[in-house]
Amino acid sequence: MAIELFSIGTELVLGQIQDTNAHWIAQQILQIGGELRRVTMLRDDAEEMYEALESAIERETSLILTTGGLGPTPDDMTVAVVASLIGTKPVVSEETLADFRKRREMSENDPLNEALTKMAMIPESATALQNPAGWAPCISVEYQDTTLMMMPGPPREMKAIFETYIQPLIAERYRAEITTARVYVSMFEAEVSPLMQKVMEHHPDVYLKAYVSLRNADTNMMPVDLVSTSADKADAETQLQLATDYFRELVVETGKHFSLEEA
Ligand code: ATP
Ligand code: MG
Repeated sequence: MAIELFSIGTELVLGQIQDTNAHWIAQQILQIGGELRRVTMLRDDAEEMYEALESAIERETSLILTTGGLGPTPDDMTVAVVASLIGTKPVVSEETLADFRKRREMSENDPLNEALTKMAMIPESATALQNPAGWAPCISVEYQDTTLMMMPGPPREMKAIFETYIQPLIAERYRAEITTARVYVSMFEAEVSPLMQKVMEHHPDVYLKAYVSLRNADTNMMPVDLVSTSADKADAETQLQLATDYFRELVVETGKHFSLEEA
């Protein structure tokens, strides 16, 4: 039930704008209990976008999320790329045009400007979900075993759309129970890595991550997070407890300190 995220925008790849969307979305997905497998950053390049999305579909990704490239300018190509990938063409979403007219208090036959008309384009078999915080709608489309959900790039719009449409979908379809703990060890990364590896082998549903940059210089204690995932809350908690106990055993065996609190 893997989820993948694609952050689209040349400015992101060039480092001119920090990809805060990916960071925020990753945090949300973890909180809901979904499994985010991969995050990819892409330039506004139709061929590169096509290839990257095609391979995510080939990996049988259950849910593909994209942000960016839904705007009115020629470098906004997400709809055209997805339409061609799934073998349809971009068409005007009449529903979206009607929504635009309503929000602009225009009558049914008032012409809309070119920018708005482009933002109302969706792949033929797709559904437009109206944007609560801007113009470009969230576009949802099913293809093979994959659901694609395209979101606009501006963080405020992306967040409103994620909370309105994507969060409930992930909660309903992919929810797992997540329990986390942070522990502290007086070890260097190279020493603790094999122990963490051992814990993960014994408890495959628990993921361990050490934070070298958060080592306390005074106590020499380094935080390690344990993230336990299961369909069942009680099981997630049990697995977390077992993994934590085993990890402590391995650390203490080496003569180093293990603590549940930052001393
Ligand atoms: P739309 O035009 O529909 O708003 P878009 O992402 O193509 O979508 P852009 O002009 O590329 O439009 O981006 C709009 C704003 O959002 C820009 O300021 C851009 O830097 C910002 N932005 C886009 N993607 C991200 C991201 N992943 N993280 C943070 N900011 C982003
Ligand atoms: Mg863009």
